[in-house]
Amino acid sequence: MRLRHIRGAEERIAESPYVVQDPRGEKGHWAERFGNTNPIEIEVGMGKGKFIMELAQKNPDKNYIGIERYSSVLLRGLEKREQLELTNIWFLCIDAKEMTEIFAPGEVSRIYLNFSDPWPKDRHAKRRLTSPEFMKVYDQILEKDGTVEFKTDNRGLFDYSLESIPEAGWSIRQHTFDLHHSELAEGNVMTEYETKFAAEGKPICKLVAGR
Ligand code: SAM
Repeated sequence: MRLRHIRGAEERIAESPYVVQDPRGEKGHWAERFGNTNPIEIEVGMGKGKFIMELAQKNPDKNYIGIERYSSVLLRGLEKREQLELTNIWFLCIDAKEMTEIFAPGEVSRIYLNFSDPWPKDRHAKRRLTSPEFMKVYDQILEKDGTVEFKTDNRGLFDYSLESIPEAGWSIRQHTFDLHHSELAEGNVMTEYETKFAAEGKPICKLVAGR
């Protein structure tokens, strides 16, 4: 995500009624925050949030949380959020590595990773959202049958993930190197990045992992 700092972004996030300001206080109590016990799904690195807001509109019987660490990026999502009537979505401005402090074991049913930053240098491998370090974080908050769904156009990151995820003790349940021409295409909701890459004719890779 190209990042240009927007002056006042932190302040606007801090005042937003759509952002949970003290997410640590919600650990183990997210059902109360949503007012129901519907499954909770998270997108890590939601960017401007097209994907997660579209899911929330399509599935009122599920709850959604969008996580984005940069306030200037999240702010763009909030501008879109203000135009929608939704009661099943919250946003968090945090780094995903803090997720175990925010969600209790088993509190989350699905995690989406969409077009995550590739971090191509070996010395930055731990920052990749499909690294064994991050898979350990997801393991601690996902329910027993919970899944991680990962989409990317980056073949290097995808090939790495096909190895790093099993190394972390997970199994790859489904995968494709060309999502839009595969059986996984049914019901696919496109992200902002996916729309752009698909228009350029780039194939999109997807995997679904569980334990
Ligand atoms: N998911 C969106 C899409 O597909 O259009 C945005 C993709 S963008 C390339 C990746 C986003 O993930 C960026 O906005 C970045 O700030 C966010 N991100 C990367 N690592 C993160 C982390 N550890 N915690 C929270 N957000 C993260």
